[in-house]
Amino acid sequence: MRADYIIVGQGLAGSLLAVSLRGRGLRPVVVDDGWKTSASKVAAGLMTPLTGRRFTLTPEYPGLFSVASRVLGQEGVLRPMQVYRAFVDDEQRRRGLSRAEDPSYAPFVVRSTEGQGLLHPDLDDPLGGVLMHGAWTDLPALLSRHRESLRQDGLLIEDRLHHDDVSVSVAGVLWKGLAARGIVYCDGYRSAVSGPFKRLGWQPAKGEALTLTSDAPVPPFVLNREGWAIPQGEGVWRTGTNWEWAALDESVSAVQRDKLVARFRGFFRSPVAVEVLEQQAGVRPCTADSRPYLGTHPEIPCVHLFNGLGPRGTVWAPAMAELMADHLHGRAAIPQELDLRRSWPA
Ligand SMILES: Cc1cc2nc3c(=O)[nH]c(=O)nc-3n(C[C@H](O)[C@H](O)[C@H](O)COP(=O)(O)OP(=O)(O)OC[C@H]3O[C@@H](n4cnc5c(N)ncnc54)[C@H](O)[C@@H]3O)c2cc1C
Repeated sequence: MRADYIIVGQGLAGSLLAVSLRGRGLRPVVVDDGWKTSASKVAAGLMTPLTGRRFTLTPEYPGLFSVASRVLGQEGVLRPMQVYRAFVDDEQRRRGLSRAEDPSYAPFVVRSTEGQGLLHPDLDDPLGGVLMHGAWTDLPALLSRHRESLRQDGLLIEDRLHHDDVSVSVAGVLWKGLAARGIVYCDGYRSAVSGPFKRLGWQPAKGEALTLTSDAPVPPFVLNREGWAIPQGEGVWRTGTNWEWAALDESVSAVQRDKLVARFRGFFRSPVAVEVLEQQAGVRPCTADSRPYLGTHPEIPCVHLFNGLGPRGTVWAPAMAELMADHLHGRAAIPQELDLRRSWPA
């Protein structure tokens, strides 16, 4: 069997890269081990323009969001939604309100509020907040559609790939009888733990999320205050998350569940009933400088990486998949700030 590229992993990165390569007339074969708690299966899929304690709109966000809206919109998995980010303290309130007045933020800001209940009477938001234009990506639908399409076209191998089983030569790579001109690792945070790109500067971060039912009032927007709560219809919500750098596993904890439930209840003025349906944990493939890692191994020319999508994979992945496909097709150089070589130890 022959492919142009073997892609390791069918998460968000591997799925979109496979489409981009096929769009350029190339034949990828995707190897995926069906990892139940991959980041893409645990993620909320939220796109929020104003992030961090400082309510910053990063310079790259408008361009990335524009590509993401086009690509994920064409796929039918993008749900434009407003996101209400409530202020947690006076400092954040001061910054948030000044951002809301800044003309360069205008395309992303719907309105700001300065006090309790001004946006929605049932919310507990004593300091107010900013309502912004965001979006939610239906990642389960995206992953299952791509998996089915790859399977139907004979481009999916459901197996675990061990790098030691890959033979590399000047002609390309060979794995279990599958020959290709190159291999691209889209294996999420596992690249940080083993394999040819382990030496890069990774900062993987675990997070937990809940699916729950509640009688809480349902606002027509996503709730966000040191975490998020996304109404999914019929009383079902997804809510998360936390950041944990020490224990990089996919186990869930009662402590985190209780914290996430308490935070969810804290969005509302009156007590709400909650029943947890599911608790998941996943690890975000974060990098030391918060930018993805794209490109080719500095010492092994047919071994490539498309990874490091971090906590905002849905924002980064569509534009980066196109850039990576152009790079593999010999049509584009990777800009230095995205090229994995920026982090390769000397
Ligand atoms: C709790 C949490 C909340 C998040 N919330 C958001 C959010 O709201 N918005 C947002 O944009 N992003 C969010 N993210 C980040 C987002 O999930 C990631 O950026 C993105 O999903 C990473 O995708 P990926 O394809 O690189 O990795 P993954 O989704 O981890 O996919 C890796 C794939 O590779 C496969 N694989 C790995 N190793 C092998 C191997 N050796 N052989 C075969 N297959 C292999 C796995 O089975 C898996 O399918 C969140 C992440 C977490 C954990």
